[in-house]
Amino acid sequence: MTQNPNDSRLLTPGPLTTSQKTKLAMLHDWGSRDTEFIEINRRFRKQLLEMASAEPTHVCVPMQGSGTFIVEAVLGSLIPPEGKALILINGAYGRRMTKMMDYLKREYLVHETPEDTVPILTQLDSTLARDSKISHVLVVHCETTSGILNPIDEIANIVARHARSLLIDAMSAFGAIPLEANQIRFDAVMASSNKCLEGIPGMGFALIRKDALERSKGNAHSLSLDLYDQWKNMETTSQWRFTPPTHVIVAFDKALQQFHEEGGVIGRNKRYVENCRILIDGMSRLGFETLLPPQLQAPIIITFKMPEDPKFDFSDFYERVKEKGFVLYPGKLTVAPSFRIGCIGHLFEDDMHQALGAIEKTMGEMGVASGKPSSN
Ligand SMILES: *Cc1c(COP(=O)(O)O)cnc(C)c1O
Repeated sequence: MTQNPNDSRLLTPGPLTTSQKTKLAMLHDWGSRDTEFIEINRRFRKQLLEMASAEPTHVCVPMQGSGTFIVEAVLGSLIPPEGKALILINGAYGRRMTKMMDYLKREYLVHETPEDTVPILTQLDSTLARDSKISHVLVVHCETTSGILNPIDEIANIVARHARSLLIDAMSAFGAIPLEANQIRFDAVMASSNKCLEGIPGMGFALIRKDALERSKGNAHSLSLDLYDQWKNMETTSQWRFTPPTHVIVAFDKALQQFHEEGGVIGRNKRYVENCRILIDGMSRLGFETLLPPQLQAPIIITFKMPEDPKFDFSDFYERVKEKGFVLYPGKLTVAPSFRIGCIGHLFEDDMHQALGAIEKTMGEMGVASGKPSSN
């Protein structure tokens, strides 16, 4: 059994459906100084580095909290008060980094494109050439707002050519879309326990280039979000500085074991690609259209345009699909009215087919003949 039969399946950007094994790992209490618990911490940090071929150039520093906490911790720790960031924005998570920079009172520029458009590489190149003060470039790998896959390798090449520091929010891609430190030059990549790695929420982590982290001493604006301090403490004592999220960590360890059993990044990618294909095919048969063309679509979350039929009311649709056991996600796009269906988490082909069945049945109940959007 993979799930509790009465739990909804979460077709969302997170929190996500986790396996029964992962949930069961949490039925114990752990002391933070317990030797087995310390070993689990050592093990997951090493595995995350290996996943990105980032050993020995980078180190893994975890941080309590949701994904946003680790992103803010990385920006606050690595960008010095006199630094300047260029933020590539094509959705809410890129925009959120500007808010963090406002709180940090650190200087930044933005390069913003619509939610269905990747950054314009020639502009990135010319901006870096023009402004030598820019020390860091911030980008989101898969912008979960739309599900768009940003061209991380080309962006990394340009940033490396200009010898600037690249910080990647790979929250919704890490573990399912390859990102290899020996091919893509980055100073930090941020992700969390709960997205493609299928742990439970409550912890983020960053893979940080060792010399960049060494140089970051004294940058942080915040004690609890100081990654330099978190790292130094872990290296010297094997302990977290403050109470570790013990249950999240043991569940994560169990989730990583299943990740490896599935074939690592390649295996996970394969399942999500298949989930994504089934969803898009099935939804297209019902008349729905995706926002993104296939070449920009990451196999993480899919944005569908709102149907034209006035009988289609999204909140009614959402509630009816939820009653049938599937949680969808509203859109938050400015380019088009839309909603989203995720294909990550502990979900398989069968789950996708059943979700499509629930959607088709719901459309019947609502008297909506087709999911076709209006043509403008
Ligand atoms: C989920 C996500 C985050 C973190 O969001 P939280 O709600 O804080 O966990 C950050 N960036 C991206 C791209 C995400 O998908």
